[in-house]
Amino acid sequence: EWVTYKDNGERVMLETTKTPLRDENGKIFGVLGVAYDITKRTEREDALREAKQEAERANRLKSEFLANMSHEIRTPMNAVMGYSEILAKKLKNNPEYLSYIEGINKSGKNLISLINDILDLSKIEARKLEIVPVPVDFETILNDIQEIFAATIESKHLDFTINTDKRLPKALMLDKTRIRQVLFNLVGNAIKFTEKGSVAVSARIEGVASVKSKIDLYFEVEDTGIGIPKQQLSEIFKAFRQARGQSSKFEGTGLGLAISKRLVEAMGGTITVESKPGKGSIFRVHLKGVIIPSADSIETTKDDKNSEQGVLFNSPLILLVDDVESNIEIVKEQLSELRCSVELARNGKEAIEMIEKKKPDLIIMDIQMPVLNGYEATRILKADIRFKHIPVIALTALAMKEQKDKYKDIFDDYLNKPTKQNKLVLTLMKFLPYEKEQRKIGGGSANGSDIELPDKLPNEFIDVLKAEIFPLFNDLTDFFDTEDSLNFIGRLSEQAKIYNFPEFEDYCSKLGAATKKMQIKRINQLLNSFKEFKNNLLHD
Ligand code: ADP
Repeated sequence: EWVTYKDNGERVMLETTKTPLRDENGKIFGVLGVAYDITKRTEREDALREAKQEAERANRLKSEFLANMSHEIRTPMNAVMGYSEILAKKLKNNPEYLSYIEGINKSGKNLISLINDILDLSKIEARKLEIVPVPVDFETILNDIQEIFAATIESKHLDFTINTDKRLPKALMLDKTRIRQVLFNLVGNAIKFTEKGSVAVSARIEGVASVKSKIDLYFEVEDTGIGIPKQQLSEIFKAFRQARGQSSKFEGTGLGLAISKRLVEAMGGTITVESKPGKGSIFRVHLKGVIIPSADSIETTKDDKNSEQGVLFNSPLILLVDDVESNIEIVKEQLSELRCSVELARNGKEAIEMIEKKKPDLIIMDIQMPVLNGYEATRILKADIRFKHIPVIALTALAMKEQKDKYKDIFDDYLNKPTKQNKLVLTLMKFLPYEKEQRKIGGGSANGSDIELPDKLPNEFIDVLKAEIFPLFNDLTDFFDTEDSLNFIGRLSEQAKIYNFPEFEDYCSKLGAATKKMQIKRINQLLNSFKEFKNNLLHD
């Protein structure tokens, strides 16, 4: 390729080919060179390249914009969700208001899930999604998914089956969150679009399943639902696309499959669909080269399951540093339920002063604050030999990976806003000693409740319950206070003695202990058990 200029000064791009010229003996005596004018073609190529770069730049800007948006939206959502959770607890005996709160909650959850979906998609598109394989029990994930949808499956009278290959290893190296997300989408869709019949999930492997070897994992979700017309099969994997003519009774945004497809591809796999309108659909996923982990790495994951359940800390002092009132109240409430004491600071400077005075066991630090931000404050702390051992957990609404990476070096861990109770517990468990309260008490009744119900109660005892005990109980659930609780306990245990029901005495001593220690979570648990008992009795 070379450049030349016409007489009028116009630039011309040339591409040449050379052909040897031979005489009758085949000997080369010269070369024929032909030059082609490729100016137009190179101009087009340049324009395309520029357009592509421009599009990529715009795409990057879009993801940055989305990350910032999510920050802005999640922070107020934190307040909305947190407050409505608190209100729901306070209003549990006021059905009218409770239904409003439930409405707020439901819409809030939808909104957060939409934000998360959009964010996920943009992260994948900007190739900023990390796939983190850990040892995962695939069968447990399938069972979990079934549990999540159990209520819907039952209400639609669907047959739900899980079939797994006997050779399916106990553990596979997979990104737990992402694989769940894919299954959740596929199974959710199958149930959503099936009115009658069945949904079947199956999984099998191919390859030699031995430690550290790689196998191919195949799983599929099959339903007997409405199906998808042939010409739309490729459309449904695109963002915001739903099958045309689909009834509006199906909720959804059309993002689930777009995300699933990209996730499966990010995990090095493929997803395909086969469907017959009116008969049903099969979505098939094939993950190539999934590693089987060695046995010693598996133990830790088993332990993780539900491990935050029933955890209580030994009254550690936690310094909460935040300037937004609504955040403070929510996290404070969450912490006090876990038996933690809380001190507050409104900015980094105040935090440092408090730490010198109070010597907290752990610090939860917001990032964006006036006077001295959380990042700078933590840098100062970590440079001080007296305080560097105190764990500092960043509280952040930032969702992009590199923003989190920025904090990894300096903070001990981070929590996303809105802070979920279970995430908070799991994070605190890494740094603070804790104990687990027993979940089943009273000899472990079949339904896991705290009261082992006697088979039959004498009518007189039922009358006393209805006339005296239940009203006291209702007062207590309206608004819990220690005095009412002890009053209720006193009356109930008195009657339990008279009618000789040690089960109730046992229950009373548990509620008494929880009341004295103000273990809110435990108290709620116990009150719920009694409520269940009460409702059963009243409905019989
Ligand atoms: P959403 O379910 O939120 O609409 P998805 O991306 O998960 O979004 O699905 C896109 C569309 O694909 C759905 O709206 C529906 O038209 C079609 N689809 C997906 N799964 C099924 C299924 N199991 N049966 C019938 N149609 C389906």
